[in-house]
Amino acid sequence: MSATRVRFAPSPTGYLHVGGARTALFNWLYAKHVGGTFVLRIEDTDKERSTDAHTQVILDGMTWLGITWDEGPFFQGEYGPRHRADAEALLAAGKAYKDYHTAAELDAARAKASAAGGAFRFTRALMPMPAEEITRREAAGDPFVIRFAMPDEEIAWDDAVHGHISWQGRDLDDFIILRSDGSAIYNLAVVSDDIAMKITHVIRGDDHISNTPKQIALYRALGAELPIFAHLPMILGADGKKLSKRHGATAVGDYQDMGIMPAAMRNFLALMGWSPGGDEEIVPEAEMIARFTLEAVQKKASVFDTTKLEWMNGQYLSQLSAEELLAPVERQLGILGVDAGTRDLLPIIDALKARARTVTHLAEQVASRLDRSRLVRDDKGNALVTKMGERFAQSLRLSYPALEAVSAAEWNAEKVDAVLRAVGEANTLKLGDVMQPIRVALTGGTVSEPVNDLLAVVGRDESLARIDLAIKA
Ligand code: GLU
Repeated sequence: MSATRVRFAPSPTGYLHVGGARTALFNWLYAKHVGGTFVLRIEDTDKERSTDAHTQVILDGMTWLGITWDEGPFFQGEYGPRHRADAEALLAAGKAYKDYHTAAELDAARAKASAAGGAFRFTRALMPMPAEEITRREAAGDPFVIRFAMPDEEIAWDDAVHGHISWQGRDLDDFIILRSDGSAIYNLAVVSDDIAMKITHVIRGDDHISNTPKQIALYRALGAELPIFAHLPMILGADGKKLSKRHGATAVGDYQDMGIMPAAMRNFLALMGWSPGGDEEIVPEAEMIARFTLEAVQKKASVFDTTKLEWMNGQYLSQLSAEELLAPVERQLGILGVDAGTRDLLPIIDALKARARTVTHLAEQVASRLDRSRLVRDDKGNALVTKMGERFAQSLRLSYPALEAVSAAEWNAEKVDAVLRAVGEANTLKLGDVMQPIRVALTGGTVSEPVNDLLAVVGRDESLARIDLAIKA
């Protein structure tokens, strides 16, 4: 076991966003690659927005994706005493100080800065308070916050993704580390916890880059060794803007409901910012773990391409057996309100899985073969009917009696294939002109499993009924 320890530290203030899932995945892949430990820490310090339900959704999403944690979940809210002790140690060492400014005074300073066209920044030099005023407010028992005394020094680190990054302490605030109610703010809580949990690599979204210099200053002030920082590139929607609800589904659970398989989602997310080196896109889990390095994480943002996700899902679906797909399909049929009764779904799934992109799509196809009321004539189906004109119904009228002559006992894919070929030959019809109308009659569309398999799956009586309906339509 290596000494490497990484963590995923979500705030349970919402569902598990795909960006969060990608962060979790990269931490997990890195830990697996080096044989380290993956810690899960729930950052539930925002009491108003954090809920147990959100925590559960995050745990469920990770479990669904197969991202397992070695330690935790730990809850940041339980570490308040340690956060306070760290703030007090900084105070005692003169590296932090009590600030008695009131909200009104800060608002006034903010307004003044913005009127002068500048950004507001709080430092001891910019917002001095005379010693006697501090003593007076202290004696009056006025509320105070604890601020970090930002040193005037260079703060630099070699980011494992972005390379060398450097800030100057003088450009940063004396930021608050402890609120007047004694609770820690994010930057202190996260550093205190990462030190206590012996985290060696902080791998997170690059929206946190601006927090990193403040956190490094805290590590230094607390006398702790710095971890390696790796800031992952942003995930964008197709329009190049940061991925958000506007772009459609962003919750991992939505993709589960849409019929995406966890292995496909994991593979897809892994390629959001990481390249396995070659051109291949389907990377099995063991390969991913073997090849994952932080050096191979790209700096530039990646685009969340739903079409590609569905394509990838289709690749995974076709590799799964009908048995493996049975439970997910049944779950989706349940959502669609379809009761399969005693029908054996395995041959239907087998016939359909190669062309399905999502389990939902697969379940809809299964449903349309089981239940006539699920038949919908799609655009391609309508186009074929228009293109063939009279010949559409004529062709079906020739096939109908030939199929009707096949008994239920003889009805199978081979038999109906022979019958339909004979219909084509006897009437000098192209095979497509015999098969396509049947496909449209039975599925509503022009793309499906081979027509003879389709007839076998739908069954004799139901196939004849659908052909009859299409003739009369
Ligand atoms: N709780 C923080 C968030 O959800 C993560 C902090 C971190 O990874 O350092 O953004």
